[in-house]
Amino acid sequence: MSTPLRTTVIGSYPFPAWLEFATGHLDAFGSDDIAEMLDDAVAIAVKDQVDAGLDAISDGEQTRLDFNLSFYGFLEGLAPEPPSRRRFGPPGHDQRGKHAVLGDLAAPRGLGTVADFRRLTRLAPAGVRLKASVPGPYTLSGRLVPGGRYRDRWAVAEALVPIVRDELAALAAAGCEEICLDEPSMSCYAHREDPTRFVALFNDTVASVHGRVRLSTHLCFGNFKGRAVAPRSYACLFPAFLEAHVDQLHVEMASREFAELDIIGTIARRMDVAVGIIDVKSYYIETPEDVAARVRRCLTFAPPERLAFAPDCGLSQTARWAARPKLANMVEGVRRVRAELGLP
Ligand SMILES: [Zn+2]
Repeated sequence: MSTPLRTTVIGSYPFPAWLEFATGHLDAFGSDDIAEMLDDAVAIAVKDQVDAGLDAISDGEQTRLDFNLSFYGFLEGLAPEPPSRRRFGPPGHDQRGKHAVLGDLAAPRGLGTVADFRRLTRLAPAGVRLKASVPGPYTLSGRLVPGGRYRDRWAVAEALVPIVRDELAALAAAGCEEICLDEPSMSCYAHREDPTRFVALFNDTVASVHGRVRLSTHLCFGNFKGRAVAPRSYACLFPAFLEAHVDQLHVEMASREFAELDIIGTIARRMDVAVGIIDVKSYYIETPEDVAARVRRCLTFAPPERLAFAPDCGLSQTARWAARPKLANMVEGVRRVRAELGLP
């Protein structure tokens, strides 16, 4: 259990406009230029989150500039796939970049999150709680086309397990005390896969850090370009996911108008539950009173010491002008309920 009614984020935060522009022109920059750019971007994401008053912050995933600078650039055994087959029309998940698996999957340099965590530690004010986010093997495998000796997505995901497990251990060794292993692909596809198999894969991945760091997972229904990609129900994940080796499970509730909210009571009997209480897909800015009412509703299902609050997903697909007040109002709304309950 943690601080009652804790406020936190899912990893990502919108890029500043100049960073997004630079992402399309990375060839124009030298490596020192890019290092400086990443520091500046993380400093901005940190400032916005600290200003909002969150109990735990991330680096905003500002360094995951493109497919290659994110995890896939650290993986051996891949070849780029040609550009997506649909390039026009409304944005959708079929337009996300993919890589083909050709050889043995390996990450001899790790996946880069340790350097990201060190940067965040260097740039964040002292005393602020920091968290690192790492995509889980099943989620990572969704953008890899099976090939070579890996015949299907499960084989690719299983090959990624030791790579991610080592990454988590390296993060813990670097002093990271809070890690979110993101597995939204599991919540997206639990309706057609065996959820107990997901949990076994998850527990195998976190075996290196379970019980040593505060571990959470993020289970949403997709947010690429603000779009979902799944039947948005958590029913098929449970009770299997109660066996996941995590301290906190995050569920997307705001964009679903708090459907199945009773599930947080089920989760809270076994672990902390972080409730997505801010709709990252909507440009309606939740007021502090909206947030306070939602928190009170959650308290009818779970005790304060089991509850944390966050946006539904990372904020990378939400414009920064909206992300900033959404976070600030989330913190203020939770603060009002804390005051009502006499909590610190
Ligand atoms: Zn998400």
